[in-house]
Parts: sequence; structure tokens; C-alpha cells
Amino acid sequence: MEPVAALERAIYLLDRELAPSNKVRAFKKAIDTIDSLDHDEITQRARAGTLTELDGIGKSTSAVISEAVLGIDDGYLALLDERSQIPLGVGAELRAAIRGDCHMHSTWSDGGAPLSTMASAARAIGHEYVVATDHSARLTIAHGLSEERLVDQLAELEELNATFAPFRILSGMEVDIFEDGTLDLADHMLERLDIVVASVHSKLSMPAPDMTRRMVTAIANPHVDILGHMTNRKVSGTGRAPSEFDAELVFAACAQFDTAVEINCRPERQDPPEELLELAVEWDCLIAIDTDAHAPGQIEWQAYGCDKAVRCGVHPDNIINTWSAEELIGWASTKVS
Ligand SMILES: [Zn+2]
Ligand SMILES: [Zn+2]
Repeated sequence: MEPVAALERAIYLLDRELAPSNKVRAFKKAIDTIDSLDHDEITQRARAGTLTELDGIGKSTSAVISEAVLGIDDGYLALLDERSQIPLGVGAELRAAIRGDCHMHSTWSDGGAPLSTMASAARAIGHEYVVATDHSARLTIAHGLSEERLVDQLAELEELNATFAPFRILSGMEVDIFEDGTLDLADHMLERLDIVVASVHSKLSMPAPDMTRRMVTAIANPHVDILGHMTNRKVSGTGRAPSEFDAELVFAACAQFDTAVEINCRPERQDPPEELLELAVEWDCLIAIDTDAHAPGQIEWQAYGCDKAVRCGVHPDNIINTWSAEELIGWASTKVS
């Protein structure tokens, strides 16, 4: 394996296990360093054990580079691969039926990789499609897309789709839900998108009646296809309490307006909690199992959501990711009419 490819593989696996971002950054920096050296020098330094004398190369990155150039296949990278494997449990069969991912980010907003890299990763794990859902403009901290930049992204999508076919990158956005339930994107742009994920990202602790009205207003919007990470809880690190709302009303609205409830697979979110998902099943809501990936390795997180869906009794036919891209687009467009 080429050293740069080995470092890229390490980054993929580190993202898969949600390693701290400084660790991932160190590997990206090592790629920059290695890129400027010729292969002979890298090999000599690997043999002599002097790679760490280079600026930007530390113990872990030098191990990966050395293994690559010296042809060692049972070292750091192999261990990392093993450690970051996502075990498939009761959701294994469902995972095999999944055809795409409806929520992920690229460098157009706060993702760590270009759209083409995200699409390649999705294709490599057997998906038929992925939806590009970068953030909307209001989320400035995440470099959200203005209308103008979204138009530019749609142009890039068209080019990428020409080279990726038959794999498809569907157009979309993760649109912020304002406090009054309206959306952070104009109707004429929402109309152009294949799939719209709507999420709350601000005022997470507003009083329950206000939050319920806010969410139901968004769910009833004919442009909204999927309700993203509904409680906004965080289960790791310092954690974050879930937002409060009337779940019966929210799911009744999802069922009435044919809006899918998202199982957000991010390990720190695991949203919604199982008791809420079971309630969504009682309401016969459509479900989307999405990774909300911000890096290629995170595209594999769908396995977590599949296990959870099966545990909570979600019927596979109600999971929109088991549909083909055509079926998905057809469903989303009839919602609007
Ligand atoms: Zn979000
Ligand atoms: Zn997201």
C-alpha cells in the first residue's frame, strides 16, 4: 500500500471509531508531510526508524507509514481496523436491505471530506445512493449554505452524478427549523431538492408546548421529508438533556403528513431514545435510518440504527432507506403536491 493511502485508511478507521479530532488532524498533517517527499527517502527513513524526525510525523503516523512501505500487514492499521469494526447484531438482515443514506455532510458545510469522497465511501459499502444534506445558512458555525452556495452545490452534484452513475447523489439539505417552525430556506429552493431533512439546532430547551408547535409546524410543511435528530440529546461527553415536547402529537403529525422520523446513528446522539422510537412504531410512522456522517468512515454507522430499529419493532417496509432512489424521490415529490 502507498503510504498516503495507508494514512487515508487510518483516518477512515479513526473516524469510524469517532476518535478525537486532534488525532485525525495529526494523520491529515502527516499526509501533507509525506506528499512532499520521494518514495526512496520515505523507505530509507522507515528502515532507519527516523520518520519521527520529520515535522508532522509522530509515533502512530510513522508506524502506519513504515508498515505501508515495508509491507507489514499485522501492525497499527490492522489493530485499528479490528478495534473500529462496528458489530452487526439483530439488525444484520435489515442492514443488508438498506440501499442508501439520507443524511450526511461534506466540506460544503461542516463535514471533513468533499462530496465525492463521501459518495465513494457510501458506494464502497454497497449503497445505491446518498443524499447530500449540508447545513442551511443560519448555522454559521457549521458554515451553512446560503442559497447561492446551494445553487453551486447543485451544479457540482450534477457533474458528480455523471461520473458516479449508476450510483446516485441525491440533492438535499439539513434545514434549520426556526423557533416559529418555519424553515431556513426559501420555498423555491426547497422545491428543487430531492430530500429535505429538517432539524432543530437552537433554543433546544424552550418550553414543551412551544417546542411541540415548532416541530409540528415543520413536520406539516409539505417540503419536509425527514425530521432530523428529534430530541437533540447527547449521551456522551458532558451530555445534553433531550428537548421536551408532546411526543404523541409529534408522531401523530409525522403519520398524518407522511414525514419520516429519523433514527440518527451518531454514537453521541443515539436519537430518538428507544421508548420514543417504540411510540413512533405505534403511530406507524415512516422511519429513516441515517448516519449524519461528517466523515467517510462514519457512513458505516448505519449498523447501529439497524439494530435499534429491529429492537424497537420497526417494519422494514416503513424504513425509507430500504427503498430505491426512484421510490424515495417519488415519495418525496408526492408529499409536496
Ligand atoms: Zn443536525
Ligand atoms: Zn446533520
